[in-house]
Amino acid sequence: MENKNLSRRVFLHRVGVGTLGLATGSLGQSLAVAEESESITRLTEHLIVYHGHINVGIVRDGNKAFLIDCGDGSVANVLEDLEIRSVDQVIFTHHHRDQVCGAHPLAVGGTRIGVPAAERDYFDKVADYWNDPKNRWHVYCFHPHHIMLAEPVRVDITFSDGDVLRWGPAKIRVLTTPGHTDGSVSYLVEVDGQKVIFSGDVIADEGRVWDIHSLQKGFRRGNRQIRDYHGFLGARTELVESLGRLKSAKPDTLVPSHGHVMTDPIKAIDKLIQRLEVCYDKYVSISALRHYFPELFVDYADRKDHMVIRKGKTPPTCLRHYGTTWILLSKDKAALVMDCGANSVVRKIRELIDEGEISAVEGLWVTHYHDDHVDAIPEFQKTFNCPCITDRSVARVISNPLAWRLPCVSPNKARVDRATNDGESWQWREFKMTAYHLPGQTLYHSGLLVEGQGLRMLFVGDSFTASGIDDYCTSNRNWLGRGVGFDRCIALIEKLKPTHIFNCHVKEAFDFTPEQCHFMRANLAERERTFGELVLWDHANYGMDEQWVRCYPYEQQAKAGTRVELRVVVTNHSKERRTLSCRAVLPRLWDGRGTAASTNWAKADIPAKKEGEVALTLDIPADAQPGRYVIPIDVRYGTWNLPQFTEGIVTV
Ligand SMILES: [Zn+2]
Ligand SMILES: [Zn+2]
Repeated sequence: MENKNLSRRVFLHRVGVGTLGLATGSLGQSLAVAEESESITRLTEHLIVYHGHINVGIVRDGNKAFLIDCGDGSVANVLEDLEIRSVDQVIFTHHHRDQVCGAHPLAVGGTRIGVPAAERDYFDKVADYWNDPKNRWHVYCFHPHHIMLAEPVRVDITFSDGDVLRWGPAKIRVLTTPGHTDGSVSYLVEVDGQKVIFSGDVIADEGRVWDIHSLQKGFRRGNRQIRDYHGFLGARTELVESLGRLKSAKPDTLVPSHGHVMTDPIKAIDKLIQRLEVCYDKYVSISALRHYFPELFVDYADRKDHMVIRKGKTPPTCLRHYGTTWILLSKDKAALVMDCGANSVVRKIRELIDEGEISAVEGLWVTHYHDDHVDAIPEFQKTFNCPCITDRSVARVISNPLAWRLPCVSPNKARVDRATNDGESWQWREFKMTAYHLPGQTLYHSGLLVEGQGLRMLFVGDSFTASGIDDYCTSNRNWLGRGVGFDRCIALIEKLKPTHIFNCHVKEAFDFTPEQCHFMRANLAERERTFGELVLWDHANYGMDEQWVRCYPYEQQAKAGTRVELRVVVTNHSKERRTLSCRAVLPRLWDGRGTAASTNWAKADIPAKKEGEVALTLDIPADAQPGRYVIPIDVRYGTWNLPQFTEGIVTV
């Protein structure tokens, strides 16, 4: 077939490394990128691994090739050096955008595209995902994963467990290995007397995974179905079963998508299974989930090395609790309302006014941005004329939710009258109020200390229960490390010594002893180490925090023919300064030739443990059709090359 016999120049052009470069003169830069990452390992005469930003398997037969995953497509550059003239087929381990983003030019060039049957729609029907509001608002379900192709790619063939393909000198068997994604498969390649497994992101290196947030998943226990939101490391049992399947296949070599080729697969796998166990045990030890779902943790009952759960306390008489709302009443019956998640709370407050229990509603405090705490704020604000006050981090989200992609985010916009700084105090009636930034359950979370009537009451939103910390949803961005995340929150409790702590979902008050605070902080420090060992990165938070690279605004509306700005915000979780470079990949539909152009690279230095950003400008063509466009962002960060690692959305 003529279109499979590609010259190097044409191949480069088609495979995207230089698609824009050839047209605009930045080819030199594009080629440099490709050559920097050029390296291969010859596993056998007919089996080669290309180490790009992911490992790509190349089975060769004369001057033809068969690929396993393709990543950004830069593998094309080494095919020429290997005197390979055409790619017959490429098969994918899973749908993540970093595995697949270079597939389109191959598909156009006539290469057959093979994918796991269970994930087919995430290759050729991606618009269904992107345009479904349930993947944007009130998100409690994280499957399928979000890192999905921005634009579809044709699928020619699908695979299920046990399928066997024969191509040239190789026999390739499909093994379903869910865990990293629900439909992930691995490919056992038998060639030249060797057994090599390409395992996608099931394992990344000896004892390591590529990330932790992919393993967030709901699970079943007894009669109870736990949803994804409460499923921290919920996919670990599936993953461990998949790892067992890899072991049973007795490979000589294991090739992960991310990470090093493993020549002692059994040792690598056993170490990962053991580390997952250690990490989950550390997690359970101080988890608030033990309060909400004790039946899930019967295996851990009576563990002397886990934190003991203390008895609750009766709340003082100045408080009322409805739904997720606490109401603070002054002596003369003025009310300060905390959170408003449902219209029923507004009705209840009106009843209390009618019954004479409340004389006036004088303020609304918001603990965090989650929908069950903010959904009815617009209704509240229509009904009661009073200021809405919250921490700056919360104010930014709830006053402009379109700009954020977060779990359980509400599309309802709230008016914030006063955004507080950390530690800011004021007097309300007989109470002294002090506002705090409290990055516990989510990064966008506040705390409020109320002193009065001989009490020190700390309102912690959803961050704590008597059994510990509420970090069961990684997408909420709970960071590990001294002075951040829950460590910061517990240090605040140690300093403030509240007599009562209040959670929005719990009717009883509670407190922590100094020993419990010490225990929790020691546990978090251990987690920073053990979770850090579990991931490929130089800090646990890169594996925990799906949004360490994010676009701001996440979504924006714009007219055709105008220019928009997209900021790429990066949290440097490392101990050293890092260099960041980003560019936006533009929709193929914006280019008359149907190729995906990109913006120029923008660069910034990000100090250690700090947030930094680069700004990209996008010109929307005058003839752009109305629609919702997903704009992937290519990221280079320190030594990491991360094509299409995050995305923003522009609605024209
Ligand atoms: Zn992946
Ligand atoms: Zn919450």
